[in-house]
Amino acid sequence: MDFQNDGGFQRQMFKGSWKCNGCGGEITELPFEPAGGKPVYCRDCYKSNKPRRTGGGGGGNFQRRTFQGNWKCSDCGTEITELPFEPSGDTPIYCLDCYRKNKPPRRDFR
Ligand SMILES: [Zn+2]
Ligand SMILES: [Zn+2]
Repeated sequence: MDFQNDGGFQRQMFKGSWKCNGCGGEITELPFEPAGGKPVYCRDCYKSNKPRRTGGGGGGNFQRRTFQGNWKCSDCGTEITELPFEPSGDTPIYCLDCYRKNKPPRRDFR
């Protein structure tokens, strides 16, 4: 076994002979074992095929905010200590069960 130490970080490389599905270049080493039938890309093509991260940071990171408090469900009277929104003074507050019940049945379109 002849592993090359790359700055202390040992990475297992699979040796072989493949052709890049992108540029057709020869590939002799891969950091993973390619599964049969799956396209193999050289490092350059792999990079350019990778979906780009949206700049700006935090993209795609869905943050759910919860509000802590002490409310009562307007329907069943259950105590509610957490809400996914900030309740305004005169809107009735429902627990999750009653909220679902009160919501008109609708298909989730996502
Ligand atoms: Zn390539
Ligand atoms: Zn309720």
